[in-house]
Amino acid sequence: MERLVIFSGAGMSAESGLKTFRDSGGLWENYNVYEVATPEAWKANYKMVLKFYNERRKQILETKPNKAHYSCVDLEEKYQVNVITQNIDDLHERAGSKNVLHLHGEIIKSQSSIDSSLVYPIEGWELKQGDLCEKGSQLRPHVVWFGEPVPKMDDAILLMVRADIIIIIGTSLQVYPAAGLINYAKPNAKLYFVDPGNIDLSIEKDVTQIKEKAGVGLPRLSKMLLSK
Ligand code: NAD
Repeated sequence: MERLVIFSGAGMSAESGLKTFRDSGGLWENYNVYEVATPEAWKANYKMVLKFYNERRKQILETKPNKAHYSCVDLEEKYQVNVITQNIDDLHERAGSKNVLHLHGEIIKSQSSIDSSLVYPIEGWELKQGDLCEKGSQLRPHVVWFGEPVPKMDDAILLMVRADIIIIIGTSLQVYPAAGLINYAKPNAKLYFVDPGNIDLSIEKDVTQIKEKAGVGLPRLSKMLLSK
């Protein structure tokens, strides 16, 4: 079976009603990302950070996967599919994708603020002030903030290096190190990029660009790859 990697960003979930940040002038649902998605923000005002992620979690739990998420699942009929997502939502899993690697964490989980290896599921949508890990520290969202290391990067690189087909979808490729992943594609890998924006790919690889929204471009590409 050929190995196919889907590398998704916020645009993948846009048609489920979750806003991307680049399309909203660098804001994430009206918040400046540096005031809610950095370790400094957590130190300065952890209550605001908890509130921001509680709002995002509530919104995510109320939304549903879209056609593009389901197309990723369809591809499993013929390919060994691995999804590498920058998204913190769980829409790939809810659509039924079997292998999903979350580069930037998962909003439906919490982690200890003193030991990142302690990760817990969150019951419902709210993580509260006073919710503690087993070592007694405040729980924080299980997401990778700007300026923090990306623990799953090595696993993602391994998947990229081995992939025969790579579909990059709904990402402005501005957030590093995630954006650098495509440079690990092997020379003969076939690359597709589905995004309606004018994204500068600036890589030395042959990429088939599909300038469509995820919900149109991915079902079409998936149909083509399944009929090959
Ligand atoms: P980004 O906001 O920088 O870029 C979004 C991209 O999606 C743009 O290239 C845009 O042209 C494209 N896009 C917009 N609508 C689309 C559609 N309908 N179909 C396909 N593409 C569409 O997002 P990014 O590159 O993923 O990086 C931002 C970071 O923000 C990520 O690390 C992620 O963790 C975080 N984020 C996550 C979510 C989520 O989990 N759903 C939402 C917003 C931001």
